[in-house]
Amino acid sequence: MAALQNEFSWSKSRHEKFQGCRRAYYYAYYGSWGGWDAPAGSPVRELYVLKRLSSRWQWAGSVVHDALKRLLVRARATGEWWPADRLVEQTRLQARGQFAGSREKGYWRAPTRTVGLVEHEYAEPVTDAEWKRLYDTVIEGSLRAFLASPVAEELRRTPRERWLTVDELDSWDFEGTKVWVAIDLAYRDGDGRVHLLDWKTGRERGADHLQLAVYTLYARRKWEVAEEDVVGGLVYLATEGGAPAERRSATADAAALAAAGEEIRASIAAMRAALVDPAANLAAEEAFPRTADRAACARCAFRRPCGRL
Ligand code: SF4
Repeated sequence: MAALQNEFSWSKSRHEKFQGCRRAYYYAYYGSWGGWDAPAGSPVRELYVLKRLSSRWQWAGSVVHDALKRLLVRARATGEWWPADRLVEQTRLQARGQFAGSREKGYWRAPTRTVGLVEHEYAEPVTDAEWKRLYDTVIEGSLRAFLASPVAEELRRTPRERWLTVDELDSWDFEGTKVWVAIDLAYRDGDGRVHLLDWKTGRERGADHLQLAVYTLYARRKWEVAEEDVVGGLVYLATEGGAPAERRSATADAAALAAAGEEIRASIAAMRAALVDPAANLAAEEAFPRTADRAACARCAFRRPCGRL
């Protein structure tokens, strides 16, 4: 088999990492490259294992995303929806197994098969009550809020042949650079408009214009739809007091898409300018400085190799 190449690509999460801390970006996209084959104890292996760790909030979000993906892939294939109690019970067992594996730091032995939490790696004090609240409100609360929501009702009414994707990783080409996207769920309504839904397990924030534009640019190519017929929907799942999930909708017009194109172009140019050899996608650690924001370091998975424990 040919050796894997560290091909340069762009995604919104890569952009955010680059903006947040250059050194963390270097570790995640260059320093850890090849760590899947590296010997235990080597620096590259350590970075590879650490880059896969999540915070407890990210972990809870990914448990919810995985559960909804299982539910919706099955609903799309068979037309049958699991009842809330069944989905919650399955997910509870899975979350419990992942939590136990992380607490034992099994991710050092099998990083691709074992979830790892930053809190366990760095022995951060999180009380049992906090873990329970995370499970109750974010994980179980989100699943129940989704199934009780008008969004789920709308999907039940939408013929399955109009569902376009359920959380599949895909890419498109932006001026020669591969751009990654994974839309949680897309469907076409009876009027031909394409809806792009994004599950949110965090607090409600303002519209994410860059994300909406990236999704719209992708949808235009993928499903041959005009931008005015693409509707982005942020679905807030972890609601107060167990209320049904709420959807906030927005569209990106031609001006917003042009602005997003400028932002992506500038982001790619800045990332490539930091490389020692852009054609070969080669980076040198010293070109990626540590952030001045020490609060970010206190949450960072790389704090030990970075020297900011
Ligand atoms: S510990 Fe701080 S400086 Fe180091 S990679 Fe993480 S965020 Fe960046």
